[in-house]
Amino acid sequence: MRIGCPTEIKPQEYRVGLTPNAAREAVDHGHEVLIQTDAGLGAGFTDADYTAAGAAVVDTAEEIFARSDLIVKVKEPQAAERAHLREGQVLFTYLHLAPDPDQTRDLLACGVTAIAYETVTDAAGGLPLLAPMSEVAGRLAPQMGAWALQKANGGRGTLMGGVPGVGPAEVVVIGGGVVGTHAARVAAGMGADVTVLDRSLPRLRYLDDVFGGRIRTVYSSGGALARLLDQADLVVGAVLIPGAETPRLVHRADLARMKSGAVLLDVAIDQGGCFETSHPTTHEDPIFAVDGIVHYCVANMPGAVPRTATIALGNATMPYMLALADKGWRQACTDDPHLLAGLNTHAGLLTNDAVGRAQGIEA
Ligand code: NAD
Repeated sequence: MRIGCPTEIKPQEYRVGLTPNAAREAVDHGHEVLIQTDAGLGAGFTDADYTAAGAAVVDTAEEIFARSDLIVKVKEPQAAERAHLREGQVLFTYLHLAPDPDQTRDLLACGVTAIAYETVTDAAGGLPLLAPMSEVAGRLAPQMGAWALQKANGGRGTLMGGVPGVGPAEVVVIGGGVVGTHAARVAAGMGADVTVLDRSLPRLRYLDDVFGGRIRTVYSSGGALARLLDQADLVVGAVLIPGAETPRLVHRADLARMKSGAVLLDVAIDQGGCFETSHPTTHEDPIFAVDGIVHYCVANMPGAVPRTATIALGNATMPYMLALADKGWRQACTDDPHLLAGLNTHAGLLTNDAVGRAQGIEA
């Protein structure tokens, strides 16, 4: 099979769908790999890295789309890319179709077989191709929070770990899932005093167990959160209720009880955010202040570290990419119902219930 990987064209996207390692694996499995010139540069991979892996470097995206049976990308295809997709071709990438009727219409019209990273499932009930980005965003959160706490950025001027004789920052993580766990881990590693809130007792038990007393766990309620907000230097919003809008857990009135220069860092902003005063920001202009509280609400946090994010995503997608290439999409999805859960469109049909419900189309 011929596998193609074009350069991402969405603004500020520096990741790439195939790493040289993934390209090499595909070549070793007997496939041909086409990569667009400079596609990996933003993530620190040169054309020579891909050539050494056995891939062929081609000049244009048009050539990649025209010649490939399987297209591997990162972001949803942009309008210019969608114009090149066709029936019989397989697209494997993040799609996020539910809120995107234009993209859905174009994918159905062109007949492409589109498999979305974000709806591939695993036996534990997780989303294995979303988890790596949650891990990256979670580990990045304390790093960006520490930066935002610096005085020059409007923050309180508190060092995360304190110093001998001066106590550490108080970090509150709301939501102890993938993002929250990784945020807690790095914040604790920086020496901060960390409290994680969650509504799931099994999750709190798990966190209590794995952190062995290094963090506090608290059952999430309005009252418990209000008490913690009084003391917090950094609050990380990491809540998710699958299939529902993120609940607003911190309201504007709550800001008055917080310490001036404290930081609200809303990782959940890509799902609407869990602070009432959040609005999405960018890496170029990541923070703003409301009532003396610094807000960091970058919707694509992994974009700050495209090298780590690309390799993490590539590690997770590689087995599925190889299954699709080795067996063809039909057999690969027949053999693996979790990969089948990723199928969103095929030959003009919508094949994902949640997307169908969101857009009023029968799936
Ligand atoms: P997850 O499902 O692993 O974890 C969510 C956790 O929130 C669960 O443990 C759940 O029990 C908990 N929760 C639900 N309601 C709660 C409440 N009222 N109080 C406290 N906890 C509650 O999800 P995740 O992968 O950790 O993702 C968290 C959020 O981060 C999602 O919105 C995701 O889209 C977002 N995210 C953003 C970025 C970014 O760049 N901004 C990157 C990755 C993920």
